[in-house]
Amino acid sequence: MSLFWLRTQSHGTIPTHTYHFEDNMRNLYGDRLCTRCTTNTLGCETHAILECNYSKHLASPLIHKLRSLLSKAGQPSWDSLPTSQQISIILGNPPPSLPTKLHKVLTETTLYEILPHISSLKTLLYT
Ligand SMILES: [Zn+2]
Repeated sequence: MSLFWLRTQSHGTIPTHTYHFEDNMRNLYGDRLCTRCTTNTLGCETHAILECNYSKHLASPLIHKLRSLLSKAGQPSWDSLPTSQQISIILGNPPPSLPTKLHKVLTETTLYEILPHISSLKTLLYT
């Protein structure tokens, strides 16, 4: 369920996913900063998963697995991918360059790594 919430941008602990109202005015998207660290950075899912000092350590085992899978599949290396593609893969999408016939295999292989990661992230962000 948490993966669904992240993919649909409705995770209550991600500042950019929530509505903030002050004085009957909605806060601007750019004002929704991370409340878990002191970097004064936009509190989006990319920040929470890949950048935030509070939570980024949780993604290390998953990224290690994804690096290996991308290499075995002859895909561009993890470090060469833009952050937007990295977060897309972490949220369960195949790399754009991966042949369609391998999408199912990748999903079956990575979902068992992705779901526990997202669950751990949810637990950490709710504490
Ligand atoms: Zn942060």
